[in-house]
Amino acid sequence: MKALVVVGNGMAGMACLEHILKYSPRFAVTVFSDETHVNYNRVLLSSVLAGEKDADDIVINGLEWYQKHDIDLRVGVRIVDVDARAKTVTGNDGHVTPYDTLLLAMGSSPWFPPIAGLDKDGVFAFRTLDDTRALLRRAGRQTRAVVIGGGLLGLEAARGLQVQGCHVTVVHLMDTLMERQVDPCGGVYLRSKIEELGVNVLLGRTTTAILGGETVTGVELSDGSTLEADLVVVAAGIRPNVELGRKAGLTVNRGIVVNDLMETSDPDIFAVGECTEHNEICYGLVAPLFEQGKVLAATITGNTGPTYTGTVQAAKLKIMGVDVFSAGEWADGTGVEPVRYEDPALGVYKKLALRDGKLAGVILVGDAGDSHRYMEWLRSGADLTAQRRQLLFPPPSADAGLDVAEMAESATVCGCVGVTKGTIIRAIHENGVNTLSQLKETTRASTGCGSCTSLCQDLLRAVAPEFEEEVKKVICGCLPFAEDRLREILRSARLKSVQEVLEIYGNGPGCEVCKPALSYMLDMLWCGDHDEDRSARFINDRVHANIQKDGTCSVIPRIRGGVTSAAELRRIADVADKYHVPMVKITGSQRIDLLGVKKEDLPKIWADLDMPSGQAYTKGVRMVKTCVGTDFCRFGTQDSTAVGIELERRFEQLFTPHKVKMAAVGCPRNCAEATVKDIGLVGQEGGWQVVVGGAAGKSVRKADLLTTVETSEAALEAAELFFQYYRESANYLERTYDFVERFGIEKVRKETVYAPEIVRQGLRDRFARSKARAVDPWLEGREPKHPTQFIPIQPLEKVNA
Ligand SMILES: Cc1cc2nc3c(=O)[nH]c(=O)nc-3n(C[C@H](O)[C@H](O)[C@H](O)COP(=O)(O)OP(=O)(O)OC[C@H]3O[C@@H](n4cnc5c(N)ncnc54)[C@H](O)[C@@H]3O)c2cc1C
Ligand code: SF4
Repeated sequence: MKALVVVGNGMAGMACLEHILKYSPRFAVTVFSDETHVNYNRVLLSSVLAGEKDADDIVINGLEWYQKHDIDLRVGVRIVDVDARAKTVTGNDGHVTPYDTLLLAMGSSPWFPPIAGLDKDGVFAFRTLDDTRALLRRAGRQTRAVVIGGGLLGLEAARGLQVQGCHVTVVHLMDTLMERQVDPCGGVYLRSKIEELGVNVLLGRTTTAILGGETVTGVELSDGSTLEADLVVVAAGIRPNVELGRKAGLTVNRGIVVNDLMETSDPDIFAVGECTEHNEICYGLVAPLFEQGKVLAATITGNTGPTYTGTVQAAKLKIMGVDVFSAGEWADGTGVEPVRYEDPALGVYKKLALRDGKLAGVILVGDAGDSHRYMEWLRSGADLTAQRRQLLFPPPSADAGLDVAEMAESATVCGCVGVTKGTIIRAIHENGVNTLSQLKETTRASTGCGSCTSLCQDLLRAVAPEFEEEVKKVICGCLPFAEDRLREILRSARLKSVQEVLEIYGNGPGCEVCKPALSYMLDMLWCGDHDEDRSARFINDRVHANIQKDGTCSVIPRIRGGVTSAAELRRIADVADKYHVPMVKITGSQRIDLLGVKKEDLPKIWADLDMPSGQAYTKGVRMVKTCVGTDFCRFGTQDSTAVGIELERRFEQLFTPHKVKMAAVGCPRNCAEATVKDIGLVGQEGGWQVVVGGAAGKSVRKADLLTTVETSEAALEAAELFFQYYRESANYLERTYDFVERFGIEKVRKETVYAPEIVRQGLRDRFARSKARAVDPWLEGREPKHPTQFIPIQPLEKVNA
């Protein structure tokens, strides 16, 4: 078997190798990587930095893939020499490896402009997983971060650092952010969106020096001003790694020169990815590299035929939650007719550049929903003269499928992972894929930045036979509407009672499925100001108790934050004795459960207990688990107990789409498991991380980072925004972990903590109105004789002082 040596274990090299493995003849493959990880998705490093994904989540091919294909993977070895005559490569460990065929896939390296002080502790690049981990170790609350470079990488770094709680300033040499992707006008839109999110942007300035002793303390700018900084990220550009190409005697310009068959000037040496140059272009995005890999796999295995003729330069990105799409030649110039649309209030900017009646280039900021249509026009070179009026505003299509049907099979749908329309269509036809989550699992499409999600859904809608039913699941036969549609109907028709809705829109008297769902929606929509019909609720809600399998009930008094008092414990013990409660149990959520209670004793028991109900029977707030925090724990950085109690007090007694479990911990040791709760507050030195969508039940999911804030009140407010948003947007019986996954944390952030103030105020107002009307069913109509007393703890204000 011939020996194939691959230098570089990155995205282009391994995507190409995946194709090579599908062909014969087989090679004995050795892969060298100077990184120490298996092949991972570099595009998603931004998501790792932003706390949305773990390193494990971005692995493309795990160790088992290399084993399965007998690939000899040598990580941590840098190839330092190539002898093209002897056909060997030499590693920095001194080892010499012979090859019959050599594949160079070394990618690029960050470019560092000539700035004094780049060697100081606290200066970072943003290219590898190790860079990302180092940044995460350094970034924290109130860390002052300066990002040098306002291109794609710089803005991605800025976003991640900002989510980690840093105060971020982006310094960019040009007058426009991402000037390679957007024109000055688009740049203004992009800048204002990014500044809205709290990132400071300085344009038209260079960094002249990094200040500080051994460690960074600031940067000096070309206008003479200085910025204080605890860390600096240099994202000023990349340079193809061509050194080995030169050593092998290959033709090298900016990159290693390849022809349309992806051959270099040596018949036994091939190259792919960012280290190459094709037709004088060095690509820096993944989509072209995947196309190159397919062609090269055919060439290298002797199945010569497909050629690589270049890729329309297109970038579809989600920069800090802002959709940006740019493709082709969009610059103004002779013979170019620009077509523009701007809506400053919505933050939407679109520009098309036409040449000879054909689309030459496009820029979309703030709304990239139509990007595939423009991409298709660019690829096909279609004459658009007859469609001039509809270029920016296409007529509504009777069938969403018509639009995507026009896309070429080879068109890339998911740029992050390199999934084409053809792959998606095959997955639908051959693997029976019908839902977005099945599509994600089968093809990995839409698992990256999420900007292709709607396109994937359009494809599913057009091709998958059962898609419509899956996604637009109607409530039940009695109410044949999807939930979002039903919410619209209830709102616009101002319907306030379950019976009314069923009479007007239902088929029959309603059932166990639609009545509780309707009850919830009405309660949520009208902030409690609706006609409550207890008989429409679930049985547990009707009797306000958890009915156990033997017909008895369980009673769980609310013990906020798990903190109780001797008096409360005495009352609980007295109740247990008086009513012969067969079991008293401490639950996994720091509560006390009286099990085996007779239904008829419930009113008397609750009156004797004189404690608020823990509402363990309803779809609502269950509990807030807390650790001891600053008061008693030597590691505590925040008063998790006080904050947890306050969190529970604010959210209790409100109905939610499904149960909500929460926790607050005083430090990242996470003793009360906040990172696997629906909402978790994790204390940090100088602030809090607010995490959402975690679970540790039937599903296990690490919560996503919503935001990092400085004060306890800000943490409670962020949690409140998410809580109300979940109440209003999730489907009934959808847990937060499914909801956050379905919406994507970027969207959740954008519509809660990073939403315009008017939107946040709306969420806060509706929450407050609902809370004002919420009642404890067991205390209704009477004042508690023993208002809850707590062990004295630090008041919130003191924690934030
Ligand atoms: C943070 C970040 C975000 C990005 N976001 C996007 C995006 O949204 N959309 C998009 O299209 N693209 C994006 N990109 C670009 C994309 O990741 C690259 O285009 C792609 O990874 C290039 O693939 P490659 O295989 O050519 O190089 P790489 O993935 O860099 O792989 C090359 C590998 O070879 C190793 N290597 C180099 N020299 C040697 C040697 N001598 N010996 C052994 N090993 C060696 C390198 O360490 C590296 O592991 C992003 C990049 C980064 C860093
Ligand atoms: S999470 Fe931290 S503060 Fe809380 S008990 Fe554990 S170690 Fe202490």
